[in-house]
Amino acid sequence: MTDLNQTALPKYPDMTAKTTEIDTLVIGAGQAGVAMSEHLSKLGVPHLVLERQRIAEAWRSGRWDSLVANGPAWHDRFPGLEFDDLEPDAFAPKERVAAYFEAYARKFNAPIRTGVEVKSVVRNADRPGFTIETSEGVIQANRVVAATGPFQRPVIPPIAPQDQRLLQIHSAEYRNPQQLPEGAVLVVGAGSSGAQIAEELQRAGKQVYLSVGAHDRPPRAYRNRDFCWWLGVLGEWDAEAAQPGKEHVTIAVSGARGGQTVDFRRLAQQGMQLVGLTKAFKEGVVSFQPDLAANLARGDENYLALLDAADAYIARNGLDLPLEPEARATFPDPECLTTPILELDLAEAGIRSIIWATGFAVDYSWLQVDAFDAKGKPQHQRGVSSEPGVYFVGLPWLSRRGSSFIWGVWHDAKHVAGHIATQRTYLAYRDPAQRQAETDASNASPIQPVSI
Ligand SMILES: Cc1cc2nc3c(=O)[nH]c(=O)nc-3n(C[C@H](O)[C@H](O)[C@H](O)COP(=O)(O)OP(=O)(O)OC[C@H]3O[C@@H](n4cnc5c(N)ncnc54)[C@H](O)[C@@H]3O)c2cc1C
Repeated sequence: MTDLNQTALPKYPDMTAKTTEIDTLVIGAGQAGVAMSEHLSKLGVPHLVLERQRIAEAWRSGRWDSLVANGPAWHDRFPGLEFDDLEPDAFAPKERVAAYFEAYARKFNAPIRTGVEVKSVVRNADRPGFTIETSEGVIQANRVVAATGPFQRPVIPPIAPQDQRLLQIHSAEYRNPQQLPEGAVLVVGAGSSGAQIAEELQRAGKQVYLSVGAHDRPPRAYRNRDFCWWLGVLGEWDAEAAQPGKEHVTIAVSGARGGQTVDFRRLAQQGMQLVGLTKAFKEGVVSFQPDLAANLARGDENYLALLDAADAYIARNGLDLPLEPEARATFPDPECLTTPILELDLAEAGIRSIIWATGFAVDYSWLQVDAFDAKGKPQHQRGVSSEPGVYFVGLPWLSRRGSSFIWGVWHDAKHVAGHIATQRTYLAYRDPAQRQAETDASNASPIQPVSI
């Protein structure tokens, strides 16, 4: 691994000057910003990356303490650098992921300025480009790339009760079990975050109620191949859009403790109480939709479909991968499934805290350009927005399923950087009269030899 102390960061344009000019400004230095910078550098596009905190900040302070990458080290990385201190099948701890992106940025001397927040981006009225207000002055840029992340604003649904006796946090604020008061906990949402947090709390001895909605839950691994591999060879990472009706289906996977399939029946057998979607809170009572069985059945269907597709792929390609019939074994239905809990008195159940693992929204209030639809959703084609000169990277489904994940954003950034380089080529074109005028001008003021 690159020694972080050995490579000096490059010098950047002087941000203390009143106005700085740059061809392309990238906002955000998570994995998306770092990938953008690499591709822009390769194409010779002058650019600057502004990051309000530190490189890969989300991986440092925006996640719980024990989080490891959901994909193995051989997969969850950029093509240009391996995690050379980890086994390929290991799951990198979150701090290691952050260090990885920092090392990656140093590898090509990425022009990243940390500690600078972009406050607003406005299109210039009387000349090309954009005026960007930052916490350290004004920048003029011909193009801006919003790489501020797919998960900017934690979302807690309006049903959350106003009850001072409960500690309520979003999964983005969860750090470890010690943070919570004594007593039981309700975790709302069973995607990767909710499922992992619920299991961690259960292992710490807490009674956990987990509210499970629609989800996909691929096997962690099957027939000696991780699910990341299966999604790759089966073309699922490259799917351009979610299947109709599956737009809001979360994916429950985990790399915790070496990686294990998320199996809600196993968690129930270990004492977790599963409930359906959380419906409402009223006078200290929480109610749930009667959809737990249907949600688990859909998750099982997704799980089994991947096993079937994997078996078919192995047969079609004559691969020599060991059979794994035990992957199809299921735990018996737990009582919370056969006799679903539809209401729960919070005090009686001893619930003292609620963790809302209910996802995130984007926040582009600072990007005051014509690149959004009526609902504020970015309008773009593979990251090239409807406002010329404005680009997005890192968004879910930007071009495919993999777009918001580590390996996927690298490919999207390549496309966006290519588009920027092509636009620069168009703008560099001069017609014969302009070329002649430029030749005449340079002949009129020949460069004087300089003695040094
Ligand atoms: C709990 C969790 C686990 C995940 N695990 C994995 C995984 O294992 N593998 C995987 O591939 N993906 C994973 N993801 C998905 C994805 O890889 C991460 O969310 C990743 O952090 C997204 O990278 P990004 O660069 O797009 O955004 P971010 O990492 O969020 O980076 C955006 C950056 O922009 C900066 N910024 C924002 N606004 C401004 C502004 N106005 N001015 C200047 N800077 C600004 C922020 O400080 C931040 O550093 C996970 C996501 C979550 C929530």
